[in-house]
Amino acid sequence: MRPAASRYNHLTVIAQDPAVLDRKGRVLTAKVALPPEYIAPGPWGYRVQVIDYDASTDRLYPAPEYPTDDNGAVRDPFADADPSRLADDPSFHAQNAYALVMNTLTRFEKALGRRMSWGFGNHQLKVVPHAFADANAFYSRNDEALLLGYFEGRDGRTVYTCLSHDVVVHETTHALLDGLRERFIDPSSPDQAAFHEGFADVVALLSVFSLPGVVEEILARKCGEQGAQQNLIPVSGVDPENLKQSALLGLAEQMGDELAEARGGALRRSVKLSVSPDHLDEPEFLEPHRRGEILVAAVMNAFVRVWSDRMNDLRTVSDGYLDLQRVAEEGRDAADYLLTMSIRALDYTPPVHLEFCDYLSAAVTADLEVRPDESRYRFRKHLRSSFRDFGIDGAQGAVVPTPEGKAVDPATTAVQPPEDAAWLPCSTLALVYDRTHSDPLTRDVDEVFRFIWENNGDLRLTPDAFSQVLSVRPSLRVGPDGFALRETVAEFYQVLRLHPDELEARWKIALPPELDDDDEIPLYGGGTLIFDEYGRLKFYIHNSLDNVARQKRRLDHLIARGALPERGPRTRDFSRIHRLRAFDAGEPREEW
Ligand SMILES: [Zn+2]
Repeated sequence: MRPAASRYNHLTVIAQDPAVLDRKGRVLTAKVALPPEYIAPGPWGYRVQVIDYDASTDRLYPAPEYPTDDNGAVRDPFADADPSRLADDPSFHAQNAYALVMNTLTRFEKALGRRMSWGFGNHQLKVVPHAFADANAFYSRNDEALLLGYFEGRDGRTVYTCLSHDVVVHETTHALLDGLRERFIDPSSPDQAAFHEGFADVVALLSVFSLPGVVEEILARKCGEQGAQQNLIPVSGVDPENLKQSALLGLAEQMGDELAEARGGALRRSVKLSVSPDHLDEPEFLEPHRRGEILVAAVMNAFVRVWSDRMNDLRTVSDGYLDLQRVAEEGRDAADYLLTMSIRALDYTPPVHLEFCDYLSAAVTADLEVRPDESRYRFRKHLRSSFRDFGIDGAQGAVVPTPEGKAVDPATTAVQPPEDAAWLPCSTLALVYDRTHSDPLTRDVDEVFRFIWENNGDLRLTPDAFSQVLSVRPSLRVGPDGFALRETVAEFYQVLRLHPDELEARWKIALPPELDDDDEIPLYGGGTLIFDEYGRLKFYIHNSLDNVARQKRRLDHLIARGALPERGPRTRDFSRIHRLRAFDAGEPREEW
C-alpha cells in the first residue's frame, strides 16, 4: 500500500534572529509547516527561487538539496542541526529565507482564500540571501526579487538580514502588497507610502506568534525561578507594559542591537510610540517608515488590549500566577485573528490614494462581513478606539461619495465605519446590470470595464480620464451562517495628465511658478468594486479623481517633497526609500 502523502514540508527557521535565545541560551528556532511541494536545489519552489549570488564579492554559494522521504515530504537538512551553528551556515541562510517567504505567502493565501500573485507578473520571486555587503534589504519589482544584505557587527561577527524573521517577512509583504494593489507605490498622500511600511511591520510582528513554541519561549523569561518549574507566569509579567517591552513586540532585535547607539534595543518598537492624535501632522512623521509606525502603534496597541483582556478572563492557577501555555495560546489565537483581519482588509481598500482611515474602515468592514458577533475579541471596537487615539477615524464603506469622497455619518459628520452608519446601500443606486453578464463579471477585466462604462454616471467616474480595470479577483470565505461567502473584488483606476495652466483652468488649483508650462501633472482616481455572488454591487469604495480638495492636498505634499513634477524615469522599487534611510546617519535605528 502506498504511504499517505505528507501534508506538510517541515523546515527549520530561526524564530526571530540570532540575538533572540531560548531558555537554555541557544538561538531560538522553530519549524514552519509549509504546503508540500517539490523543492529543487536552491531551494527553488514553485513560487520562490533562492539565488545565492553575492554581488559584492562576486560569489555564488552552493545550493542545498532537498530529497524527499517515503511520504513525499522533503527532508529538512537542518532538522537535527545544532542551533548555534545555523547562523554561520550559508546553506541554512538560503533555507531560512525560502521558508519565511513561503510561510508569509501561504498566510496571505489562507486569509484571502485564493492564490496570490507577485506584483511583477511572473510566478516565482527571486530571493537573494547574501545580495550585497550593506545593512539593507529591499523588494525590487524591477528585479522581481528580495535583495537581502549583510554587514559587519560591532564584535566583528557578520549580521545577516536573511536571518531576521522580521526583515524577511517585511520585504515579502511589500512584494505581496504590490501584487494586490499595484498603484500603492504611486506618489500620493504621506499615508500611502507609509502604509506599505507600516503594514509590512504589522505582518512581521503578528507572524512571529504563529511559529510553534516561540511565544512560550519568549514569555518564559518572565516566569522567574519559581514559575519556570511549573510553567507558570506571574500576572505582573504579562501586564500591557511588560508585553510591549517583550521581544514579541519589537522588530528586528539583532539589527537594532548592532545599529543602535545603546545595546539591547529592537530596531523599531512602534507599540511604545507615545499616544497622540498630533503625530500625523508633525513633520517628523512625513517620512514613510516613521509615519508607518503610527499605523503599527494603532494596530499593536489594540492587539495588546485584546490579549490583556483575554488574560483577565483566565483564572489564576496559584497565587498571582497564570498558566504559561494558556497565556501563549491566547496570544497566538488573537494574533492569528488580527492577522487574518488585517490581510482581508486589503480587498476593501481603494486602489489609489489610500489613507489610514480607509484602511481602518476596510478592516472593520471585512471583519463585519464574516463575523457579525465580535464578543470574543472585540477587535473592531479596540481598533477603532486605538486608531482614534492616534487621530485616525474610519472613513469609507463609501456607497455614495460625499464631495470629499468619504462616506460621512450624517448625524455626527464624523467619518464612521459602516457598522455605525446609516447611508444609502449600493442597492439603491440605479445601476445597469442587463448589459453585462454575472459570470464573466467574476473574472474578466473587460466585462468589469463594460460595467463601469455603462454606469459611469452613478459611479461618478471622470469622463475624460483614461480608465483601466486593474484586477478582478475571487474572494471565498466562510460566512456567519457557515455557508461560503463568495465575492468578487475588482479595482479600476483613472488617470488624467494635465499641464499647469489646464489644472488651473479646471479646478482653480494654482501651482508654484517654478513649474514649466509643458510639465505634466498626473492625477489619479479609482475605485474598488465588491460584487456579491449574484454579480450585484455590494460595496463601492471610491476615491474620485474629481475630488479637488484631495488632489490639492496631494499636489501640495508632492511638490513640497520634490516628487512633482516627475522628471526622468520613475523607480518602481523600494531600494530608493530604504537606501535613503541607510544614509540618514543621524538615526541609525531606522536604517531598514
Ligand atoms: Zn519596507
